[in-house]
Amino acid sequence: MLKQMESKFLLSAKSTVQFPPPLFFEIAFFGRSNVGKSSLLNVFTGTPKLARVSSTPGCTREINFFMVDNKYYIVDLPGYGYAKYSKDEQRQWAELIDEYMKMRAKSVFGIVIIDIRRGITDLDEILFEMLSERGIHFGVVATKIDKLKKNELRSATLELKASLESLGHKSEIVRFSAITGDGKKELYNLVTKKCEEYRERNARSVFVDGVER
Ligand code: GDP
Repeated sequence: MLKQMESKFLLSAKSTVQFPPPLFFEIAFFGRSNVGKSSLLNVFTGTPKLARVSSTPGCTREINFFMVDNKYYIVDLPGYGYAKYSKDEQRQWAELIDEYMKMRAKSVFGIVIIDIRRGITDLDEILFEMLSERGIHFGVVATKIDKLKKNELRSATLELKASLESLGHKSEIVRFSAITGDGKKELYNLVTKKCEEYRERNARSVFVDGVER
């Protein structure tokens, strides 16, 4: 049995000044709008209404912070790629996300959610580049696996792995379904492992006049 995590909503930030103070670790969830990010967050945290599952995609423009076990943050970033966004809205999205990445680069581990049936899209690649530019490590969750037959899932996974590698990423891949709960334990294990890594790294850091050396 998985230990039930205690997660509670902290705040919604429209700009960087509203961000809560950084902790040693936070886990940020990224994905195209409608990829299944809210469903994943609800299942992962065991809190059915933590994030809003929408039938009309693309309405959240804020960054939502949740506190987990009084220890670290889960951060729900606004989805990208909603067809009805104007150029202006897309620019605002990129600016806010980049500001977020810049400010939290040291403490954040990213989770990029991909629809297993669609694979990596152009917009996901842009996100990978943004994360890499800021030196942020990330894992990939391939979701909606319940929609594929076993053999389809096997080849889709191999394809996803190959695409990631061809882009120069060796990120771990967790296969997930919000319907069956498959992958929840693997995701929990990945997050726990990263949390420990970041804790140790943080403990080893030396700060001189508030600057990490
Ligand atoms: P978001 O826009 O990324 O937050 O996506 P949502 O969580 O709102 O999900 C978008 C749609 O996909 C909804 O109709 C969900 O019920 C559906 N969905 C999400 N995750 C899964 C999954 O693992 N399997 C299946 N079959 N449907 C899913």
